[in-house]
Amino acid sequence: MTPVVSASSARPLTTPLDTFRRWLHERGLKTTSQRDDIARVFLTGNRHISVEELYAAVKKVNPRVGYATVYRTLRLLKECGVAVERHFNDGEARYEAAGGEKHGHDHFICERCARIIEFASAELDALDQRIARKLGAVISRRRLELYGICRECREGKR
Ligand SMILES: [Zn+2]
Ligand SMILES: [Zn+2]
Repeated sequence: MTPVVSASSARPLTTPLDTFRRWLHERGLKTTSQRDDIARVFLTGNRHISVEELYAAVKKVNPRVGYATVYRTLRLLKECGVAVERHFNDGEARYEAAGGEKHGHDHFICERCARIIEFASAELDALDQRIARKLGAVISRRRLELYGICRECREGKR
């Protein structure tokens, strides 16, 4: 057996792109260069990206990719677990890459500049566990969004 190497010190053996390709293959779906371009831009680009924003970013890499292809590929990325869909206050679906060191984070959304700031809190995680114990429940996920005015907006920098 290969010893488990801590995630922070080693590259993952399987990249999200590999996971996506294998998932497509298992379902008899083709790995196309367009799907690859879309997946690559998604995985390396801005987090919390909307379909429109991803479409605009993909266009710069591959101008022949259509909106419908971006939309469908994003659905596939979500289905295979590489992308996570989020719905914040503006109602628009936003997507971010799943897993990695950002796993288990929550979001602060600025109501003035619409910036989305990620944060992780061990105290919140511990609180979840306390509440779960009290309820006799097991928590599978947490959905927490904080809304307000970010520091830059408060200080007039944005
Ligand atoms: Zn702000
Ligand atoms: Zn996030």
